[in-house]
Amino acid sequence: MHDISPTHPRYHSLILRDKMAKAYQEGILADTALIAHGRGEAFDYILGEKTNPPAKKAIIVAIASLLLAENPVLSVNGNTAVLAAEDIVNLAKLIPGARVEINLFYRTPQRVLKVQEVLENAGATGVLGKESDHYLPLEGLEGPRSRAHPEGVHQADVVLVPLEDGDRAEALVALGKKVITIDLNPLSRTAKKSSITIVDNLVRALPLMITEMKNLKRCSRGELEKIVNEFDNDYNLSKTLDIISQHFKRDERL
Ligand code: ATP
Ligand code: MG
Repeated sequence: MHDISPTHPRYHSLILRDKMAKAYQEGILADTALIAHGRGEAFDYILGEKTNPPAKKAIIVAIASLLLAENPVLSVNGNTAVLAAEDIVNLAKLIPGARVEINLFYRTPQRVLKVQEVLENAGATGVLGKESDHYLPLEGLEGPRSRAHPEGVHQADVVLVPLEDGDRAEALVALGKKVITIDLNPLSRTAKKSSITIVDNLVRALPLMITEMKNLKRCSRGELEKIVNEFDNDYNLSKTLDIISQHFKRDERL
């Protein structure tokens, strides 16, 4: 870990960058994971490095959907495990019946094992998608990244896929699943194709999801269904784009 002073204006961002670089050196992440992180950083900067109102809205709808789900699955890739393993584990524990499944874009047996270790060190139990697990390919995808667990993503009705690739998000939606993503780029294919898009940094969004889970647990099914049915993802994304364009018009931080 580099010596980063807490008074540095980019302290939080630099801490995350350091975590990612260290995880790459330890073989948990592929080199491309760092590039994906950098793209996220750029969007986060433009969004003011805060959870904006459309993201707050999407978080509430995402939690309502996860509480209504029969088979909710939290799909975890390397970046998510490195940045937010504990939040994922804590969220999974609060959602009745939720499973955690490892799904890597550039899947290698070594990295799967390392991500499994990161999750288990954070308290995860019963992780799916382990190297020795059975799997079935997801229709519409090819190669190792098409892998999905028969009792996880395959039978899920609602899947949370932070930082997903567009192809995979699209394949999941085509299979009739409700896809919730956390993606800082509101223009990505994932953001556009998903059912519920939380445009926020996952290190901010996941703790807020845990808080929201505690609030919404008190709601009836009817109330949760109303929240989900009233949501329009395209409209919500357009609100995020408005925030970005205002940012450039004002030429100042939000
Ligand atoms: P798509 O395939 O959906 O069109 P892409 O190919 O542009 O997207 P990928 O590399 O597949 O992007 O996925 C990385 C995505 O994750 C980027 O959109 C990036 O903004 C986002 N991202 C990176 N780090 C974070 C983070 N910490 N929190 C949320 N989103 C992030
Ligand atoms: Mg992609």
